[in-house]
This record gives sequence, structure tokens and C-alpha cells, in this order.
Amino acid sequence: MDLKREFSIDNKVYDLFLECEKSLVEEYRNIDEISFINQGKVLKAMQKNKLSDVHFQGTTGYGYDDLGRDALENIYRDTFHSESALVRPQIISGTHALTTALFSNLKYGEELISVSGTPYDTLVGVIGIRKTRGSLIENGVLYNEVDLLKNKKFDLVSIEKAINNKTKMITIQRSKGYKWRKSFTIEEIKDVIAFIRSVKKDVIIMVDNCYGEFVDIIEPSDVGADLVVGSLIKNPGGGIAPVGGYIVGKEELVENCACRLTAPGLGKEVGPTLGLSTSFLQGFFLAPSVVASSLKTAVLCAKIFEELDFQVNPTSKEKRGDIVQAINMKNKENLIKFCQGVQMGAPVDSYVLPEPWAMPGYDCDVIMAAGAFVQGSSIELSADAPIKEPYTAYFQGGLTYGHGRLGVVLALNNSLKNFIK
Ligand SMILES: *Cc1c(COP(=O)(O)O)cnc(C)c1O
Repeated sequence: MDLKREFSIDNKVYDLFLECEKSLVEEYRNIDEISFINQGKVLKAMQKNKLSDVHFQGTTGYGYDDLGRDALENIYRDTFHSESALVRPQIISGTHALTTALFSNLKYGEELISVSGTPYDTLVGVIGIRKTRGSLIENGVLYNEVDLLKNKKFDLVSIEKAINNKTKMITIQRSKGYKWRKSFTIEEIKDVIAFIRSVKKDVIIMVDNCYGEFVDIIEPSDVGADLVVGSLIKNPGGGIAPVGGYIVGKEELVENCACRLTAPGLGKEVGPTLGLSTSFLQGFFLAPSVVASSLKTAVLCAKIFEELDFQVNPTSKEKRGDIVQAINMKNKENLIKFCQGVQMGAPVDSYVLPEPWAMPGYDCDVIMAAGAFVQGSSIELSADAPIKEPYTAYFQGGLTYGHGRLGVVLALNNSLKNFIK
């Protein structure tokens, strides 16, 4: 099959892609090496917990004695080298997982500080920075945030000043989310955690790990985080989990989360897996490899747009803290065409053309390309962008590198083929 002809790919686009890809041998080898180690961690945890056919049964109703659920949670616990884990289909998203961790560990009069600036959009509502019904702030929790420095590093001086005797929990967002900054590496997270501990030893430190799982060979729980939280329709679900979220960390804190997710007195003992434990387990097994595919796709995308003199974040050479690739598309037309090109390369809904649209919670129109098997899944190849200056596209995912590289080529072909010399 002639891919160029089948997908109407311009020769110049294809040649540029091949040339860029050839130059990334070193980067790809590094990604494979990380994936190899993470695959080993997951495998070891599955073997240690004697994963077996009985774990694929699942329960209904109350979900008492759900062996698959317990095995799954123990496998997460061991992979993250933590004391306990809560991994459930009843956690419907990353936002819900973070909400559970916050509400269960903060009481009236206690303070939460975000030390990575204003958190991810949906958390603004959860905390109540934007007034919402039922927010943390409405429940009497105090909130403060410390912005990053101009160079986007942690502002240690202001963090030290902000911490006080009411401060109960500190949250750190690993991924840049939809902001133009660097995502934090594990080394940076390690350093800021050590600093926070030197100021207040017993404060609870939570890391929003969304998009960060398996990007490095260790996780925030390996460098002192008390709670690590994420979504199963991102990295750790491996594209297979159809829903879900996880919380790993200190036994006591995770137990608080369980008592909030289900009910006080019930905790982790209830919660049926409804036949989903196989998908969760298989997805977790595939996740290190799927994350590697996403990373290669992101690095390739960065490299190609660098060659065309576009600003990208991170660059193809920089160490990554997550799977998100930001590209400054310079103008509205390029941006829309890029996202539409990603949709054209999707296995699902490839025949629809996404258009910018007003969305709740945004101050401008947003365009979203997502032809995914799981609704809203962003470990699958996807792109989204607020239609405002500087016209940044956020591009992520790719279940296989074969699909990811084709997606990059098609997005390029649709947006910039006339610019390539
Ligand atoms: C995606 C994301 C969330 C929220 O996850 P949802 O599953 O979309 O609710 C929170 N924080 C960060 C950094 C994210 O990338």
C-alpha cells in the first residue's frame, strides 16, 4: 500500500518527516530504555501479587471480596512503591480522583497551598478559586497559591513564607496542563518536596501526576510525595481502561480517600469492578509501552515543527515530565488546520471536521480533535487548543507509534504543506 497516495500526503511533507525521524535515534533509544525499566516494574508487581485468572472475574452490587480489585490495587501500590492504593471505576476522572484526595484529607479551617501556581482548569472549580457549588473553600478550607518564578521554577522563598501553622496540605502539579511552561521533572519534584519538608515536616504533599506516569523511571511517590493521583484514561490505563482514576500513597491518607469515595466505615471493602478489572490490569501492563509511543510521537512532532521554525515546548532534546507537546502555531488558521489534520488521522470519527466552539469554563472558543475509542481519552492521539493568542496547540497521546507518526504527518500535511521548501 502506498501510504502517500492513500492518505494524499505531499512528498515534501513525507521527506521532512523521514529526515526528522532519522535524527531522533538517540531520543528514541532513551524512551525505549525508560519503557523497559517501567515494564519490568509492572511485571514484577504482577508476579509478586500472583496475578491469575481468578482476578478477572469481577463483582457486582456491594463488591465484597473482589479479588481482582484487591490485586489491581496491590499491583499499583507496588509499582509506585507506596503503602496503599485506591484504583476504581467509581472514580470517574482525574478531577474526581484529585477531588477525593483533597476533600478527604482537608477539614474546616485547614489550609491547602498550591506551589505550582494556579492549578489545572477543573481544579479551579473544585477548590473554589472560581466560585462553585460545594467547593473546598465553600466547605471552609483555606486556600493559597504560590506562583512559579519568571523562569518557571519553584519560588522557594515565597513557599517558605506561605507555609504556616494552618497549612495541612501542599499540592504540586507535575504536568504543564494547558499552560506554556515546562512540566516538572522528577528531580525538580524531589527537590521541592525536600525543601517543603525542611520547612514543615508533617505537611501532606500531594502530586497531581496526570500525564506523568511512566515518563520517567521513578514516580513522585519514590521521592517523598505522600499522595500521588491520576486518571486511567491517560497514561496508566494504557488506552484500555474505559474509565477510572487512582490514588496511591500513605496508608492512612489513602484510607481517608476510600472512606470519602465510598462511605465512612466501609472504605476499601466495597466497590464492584463490574467486569472491568481485566481492562484495568491489561491496560496497566501495556501502559509503559503506550507511554513510550506517545513520547516518540511528541518528540517527532517537536522536531518537525522546530525544523519549520515554530516554537515548541518542550523541544525535541529537552527532558520531559509528561506526554503533552505544545506547539505555537502562529495564527488561527494554522491552529485549526493542525487540529483538523489530527482528526483526519483518527481511527474513530475521522470523517468529521472539528470546529472551534464555546465550552463551559473557557473564556474563548476551543477546538478539540479526538477520534478516540474511549470518550475523552487523551492517551489516544488527540489535540486541543483554545482559539486565542499565541495560538498554541496541545498535542498528546498515540496508542502505537505507527499511528502516532502517521498522525503527525497528517496534521502537518493539513496545516503547513505549502510552507515547506
Ligand atoms: C487531565 C488533567 C486533570 C484532570 O483530569 P480529568 O480526567 O480530565 O478530569 C488534572 N490535572 C492535570 C494536570 C491534567 O492533565
